[in-house]
Amino acid sequence: MKRLLASALCAASLLCAQTRLAPRPAAAQRPKLVVMIVVDQFRYDYLTRFRAEFTGGLKRLLDRGAVFTNAHYEHAPTVTAVGHSIVLSGAMPANSGIIGNEWLDRATGKQVTSVSDDSVDLLGVEGKKGASPHRLLVSTVGDELKMSGRAPAKVVGVSIKDRSAILPAGRMADGAYWFDKPSGRFVSSTWYFKQFPEWAAKFNDRKVVEKFKDGGSFDKTAEGKAGNDIVELFAEAAVEGENLGANGGTDVLAMSFSANDTVGHAKGPDSPEVHEITLHTDKVLARFFDFVDKRVGLSNTLFVLTADHGVAPMPEVMQSRRMPGGRMTEGAVLDAISRALNDRYGEAKWIAGKSAYAPYLDHKLIADSKLDLEEVQHTAAQAVRAVPHIARVFTREELRRGLAQSDMVGRRVQNGFFYQRASDLVIVAEPYWLFEKIGTSHGTPWNYDSHVPIVFMGARVKPGRYHGSAAVVDIAPTLSMLLDVEVPSGASGRVLTEMLAQ
Ligand SMILES: [Zn+2]
Repeated sequence: MKRLLASALCAASLLCAQTRLAPRPAAAQRPKLVVMIVVDQFRYDYLTRFRAEFTGGLKRLLDRGAVFTNAHYEHAPTVTAVGHSIVLSGAMPANSGIIGNEWLDRATGKQVTSVSDDSVDLLGVEGKKGASPHRLLVSTVGDELKMSGRAPAKVVGVSIKDRSAILPAGRMADGAYWFDKPSGRFVSSTWYFKQFPEWAAKFNDRKVVEKFKDGGSFDKTAEGKAGNDIVELFAEAAVEGENLGANGGTDVLAMSFSANDTVGHAKGPDSPEVHEITLHTDKVLARFFDFVDKRVGLSNTLFVLTADHGVAPMPEVMQSRRMPGGRMTEGAVLDAISRALNDRYGEAKWIAGKSAYAPYLDHKLIADSKLDLEEVQHTAAQAVRAVPHIARVFTREELRRGLAQSDMVGRRVQNGFFYQRASDLVIVAEPYWLFEKIGTSHGTPWNYDSHVPIVFMGARVKPGRYHGSAAVVDIAPTLSMLLDVEVPSGASGRVLTEMLAQ
């Protein structure tokens, strides 16, 4: 009867057109579990280059998922903490406050990481400082599920790296767990609970990851290929321990595979090692999908795959291709700044801290010297512009006033800018130029760092390949719509309506 009445009203109203396009998901249609999979440093082209060799989880995602072929991060710096802060918040650093892996905290004058927190203790091993999402200023999809007042939702994050476990899960998570290499144990912090959960302690005590030790320690293994096996094993334990997928509502598991990043940094995207670990990731994901299928059922689970950033090719490989690129030193940039400021304003230690290679000037020194901050920034910027292979330099005051060029690079830098935590200069090197002496890296606004996979797989998702522009900030609003909860507070993306089954 209700339906009849609705369609009668529909006939006369524009509103119903929207109702038909985006039907409100009934409780029965909502997934019981959302699995957010982040592969650390995974270029989109790994999916196409190695596709023929996938037999496991990546093959399943490509065959049965909605694959976005032109999905990007729309911010810089494209680094781990920022990528992980975006996947389930949909918020740019400009709004989330997560501007890098680390930065200078102006209030204390200390370098901090995106998740370092002296007010909490580590749990799982004794006597270490903990970590928490206290610097994340926005909500995540998990937080919104918690705040929706619906059936209880559990939210858990798992990774080798602390930031990669903590940031996607959000502030209200039931737990985030990461790997403490010296002890070979998963740990968490008193942000989440006073006592380390029994299931997690049991996992540690069973020493199931011992077999992955390499040369008597986890120094190499935890971030080598076995790092992904370790995360997968612990994720299974988390699903069992927290009864994920069977708590009456929708639960969220965010898992991040860190090993790909370590291999990628050392060997580069064109290496046999990256090829190998990508195929290994395919197998690890197959195991996890099989586990979820038995435990929760694939039809009850919504999977999302993405990466936290891409990576640049090795400069040496690029040179052999007669493409641009090369190496410069971070020192060259910082020295140029120091020299220019010393020459102009007198000898002093002008640089107080860094976020990657973005410098923080000593504001107290500048104020004590009765100098104009904007002018000092300008002097420093001019010095960096004179360094070969620097594409652009932005000052903090220019970005505060929104003066970045409105093209792709300027837009991405502006989206990454959060005034209170920002460095005094943001420096963008020419494409394919790196500040690293060896290996390769990421962090730039260029497309090789921003282009990542987005794949959704599950009920109400129409499998296929979608070539229109998409952004990683679109994941959170799309999930919010599918789960029928509020959009996270800082989310700026759109709902990926093209992949929704009617
Ligand atoms: Zn990363």
